[in-house]
Amino acid sequence: MKKYLMPVLMLAVFEIVAVTLWMTKDNLFYLFNFSYIGLSISFGVFLFIRKYKHARRIVQLLVGLYMLIYLGLICNENMQIEGFWYYLFTGVFEAATIHYAVAKIFGPLLFGRGWCGYACWTAMVLDFLPYKVPGNPRKKIGWIRYITFAASLIFVATLFLAKVGNIEWIMFWAFIAGNVIYYAVGIILAYLFKDNRAFCKYICPITVFLKPMSYFSLLRIKCNKDKCISCGKCKKVCPMNVDVTDNSRKRLNGTECILCMECVRSCPKDAL
Ligand code: SF4
Ligand code: SF4
Ligand code: SF4
Repeated sequence: MKKYLMPVLMLAVFEIVAVTLWMTKDNLFYLFNFSYIGLSISFGVFLFIRKYKHARRIVQLLVGLYMLIYLGLICNENMQIEGFWYYLFTGVFEAATIHYAVAKIFGPLLFGRGWCGYACWTAMVLDFLPYKVPGNPRKKIGWIRYITFAASLIFVATLFLAKVGNIEWIMFWAFIAGNVIYYAVGIILAYLFKDNRAFCKYICPITVFLKPMSYFSLLRIKCNKDKCISCGKCKKVCPMNVDVTDNSRKRLNGTECILCMECVRSCPKDAL
């Protein structure tokens, strides 16, 4: 039973967040929202422990589709980075600001870039493409993410400074347009660079938050040097080019790890 401690702990963390927000914000939605996400993630971890091959993909679909279709399209909540800036400027701790605080700013101190591996609706689609393992060496163009980050901030700031009316309506259409652009650019780059995760590595503005915070992550893959035979299989299957055999926090591409567990699955010596 000890091996099932992790999904139980994950669920407990999400339930604490769910109940705390429900009580403090006096809004039952938060109880439903975070309970659903916690249950989906715990279910995925449970399936992974049971060695079910598609465990991660199931969580991606459960959480990703919920956020994209239900929260984004049905509830009209812009959960992209523009939505985060929007709520930040309006000065309320609601929807996207809560989502960013939990999944992308403070959460990564605990679970690293678990969001990227298990919940992001952009990667949910990109991970269906054929280049699960990068076919080309990594490019040195990660600086593009700072441009997209700044562009999203300038876009929303301009709306507020220019006192544009009906910003909520603009935010809804920005969510639609943003997703269409993300998917289009993500798919083109994946084929161009033979790498499903090229968008994540070079373009995604959210990594400006995710990377520095996940550097301190409590949850991380470590290598047992006594068991490791340096076969290199873990590095070959890693979609994010992480040198997972190096246990230091400064390991190559360490802040790129999305906790997908492909390395763990491929290790012949159970060293990870
Ligand atoms: S890097 Fe961006 S696009 Fe990729 S999984 Fe993370 S949040 Fe999603
Ligand atoms: S293969 Fe391992 S090191 Fe690479 S992203 Fe997945 S969990 Fe992280
Ligand atoms: S796959 Fe396992 S044994 Fe091989 S290098 Fe990686 S950690 Fe070591």
